[in-house]
Amino acid sequence: MESICPIDSRCANEIAALLSPPSPLQVQEYYHKLLSRRNCSSIIVKQDGNFGKGVYAAVDFNEEELVLKDQMLVGVQHSSNKIDCFVCSSCFCFIGSVELQIGRRLYLQELGASGSHGCDMSDSSNTSKYNHDTDSSDGEDNSYEKKEDGDGECSFGGSEAKVHLPEGVVQSLMNGHMRLPYSKEFSMPPAVPCPGGCGESFYCSTSCAEADWESCHSLICTGEWSDTARREALLKFIKHANETNDIFLLAAKAISSTILRYHKLKERCLLEKGKHDKSHLSNHCDLTILSEAWRPIAMGHKRRWWDCIALPDDISSSDEVAFRMQIRDLAFESLQLLTTAIFDRECEPLFSLEIYGHIIGMFEQNNLDLVVASPVEDYFLYIDDLTYPEKEKAEEITRPILDALGEDYSICCQGTAFFPLQSCMNHSCCPNAKAFKREEDRDGQATIIALRSIRKGEEITISYVDEDHPYEERQASLADYGFKCRCPKCVEEQP
Ligand SMILES: [Zn+2]
Ligand SMILES: [Zn+2]
Ligand SMILES: [Zn+2]
Repeated sequence: MESICPIDSRCANEIAALLSPPSPLQVQEYYHKLLSRRNCSSIIVKQDGNFGKGVYAAVDFNEEELVLKDQMLVGVQHSSNKIDCFVCSSCFCFIGSVELQIGRRLYLQELGASGSHGCDMSDSSNTSKYNHDTDSSDGEDNSYEKKEDGDGECSFGGSEAKVHLPEGVVQSLMNGHMRLPYSKEFSMPPAVPCPGGCGESFYCSTSCAEADWESCHSLICTGEWSDTARREALLKFIKHANETNDIFLLAAKAISSTILRYHKLKERCLLEKGKHDKSHLSNHCDLTILSEAWRPIAMGHKRRWWDCIALPDDISSSDEVAFRMQIRDLAFESLQLLTTAIFDRECEPLFSLEIYGHIIGMFEQNNLDLVVASPVEDYFLYIDDLTYPEKEKAEEITRPILDALGEDYSICCQGTAFFPLQSCMNHSCCPNAKAFKREEDRDGQATIIALRSIRKGEEITISYVDEDHPYEERQASLADYGFKCRCPKCVEEQP
């Protein structure tokens, strides 16, 4: 039985208006504003009738030159990765100290290993695990490849052979009583807790904390400041997302930021119209304002999640309809929990299944990995590079800690994010640019580097798949993105 969302029919007109494709002029205006806000004049975004949006060079780029640093619209750290890496919830840079990173991780791993910790993978029915966990810990590019392995690797697990540290060491690392040699060389900003007191979100600075609070966290914070019913509903929503798919957390951020933008725009509107005109104080949905608040998502969404999600290999085409229905039901389950938590009467259309499906579909189709390299790795490499006698002296202390951390001591911050400009870049199997994090790129921004020289006016392309794979394999992977590649390489290799 197909589940029915009552808001879908109640707000049909508003939903249709929000989902209607933006005009070429609106597209041009939006990206022009976005680029000028970021003081970026080296690229432009153009809408082409046949091929949709594309990113073009507005200046010449040399080989290996930085083309773009793209600030995410929304992003989340994978829930399993939160044990391994302590990062700013807004910019995703590492925070605290080398000692805190290590101590916290050992402590949380220990906690996870000793109790039953919601890491039970036994219930991995086909629809319940579509986490986009990435296994790349090299911090390198492959960040545009779709990760569908989805077996939700458990980070509590594979650590059986770990060495235990003497009692109290983990505690002293966490509370700062124990300092590791040379750790000062790897200083990080101190952690700033969420002002709402949720104890879940931490930041690298008060400016990051404020920015996140204003842009979306104030609606989805589970701190004491919000009332109990709301907090409980939010916790249920988060638990469901952690157990099924953290793409829902991304969607919740997108919805709450749209709601907050709506109220900000409305307030500005009221101020402009004068305080005496009470007719605008109504709490009915103002569709013009809502459309404006919705614009960043209007630029990216295409299809509903259950329509665009790639059919997993273990599902036969005869089960496709049932599979897509299950995905739809899963989304509805999540949406109902979110609606209980943060429903806003004026922004009612945002809580329709139709809109929720499109938001998640946008993330699914532009599923970009968020990767930030770990300073803990740099630290141990630094120690390893020391010479006698400093090295021996330092290793006396660091060796047992490294043994306790085990092989994956250098796990990087991993998550999923939506990058508004990178997502406009078209694919080519012979791309002229690629996503690549350089040594200095230590936050959640996406970095695009030129693979060869690019002339002004040329389209900037990246590869969504491994361009070295054979033709058939590439086309099959690209079909998941909903297109057939006709780049020069494909035209040449087409049988
Ligand atoms: Zn930050
Ligand atoms: Zn909070
Ligand atoms: Zn191609």
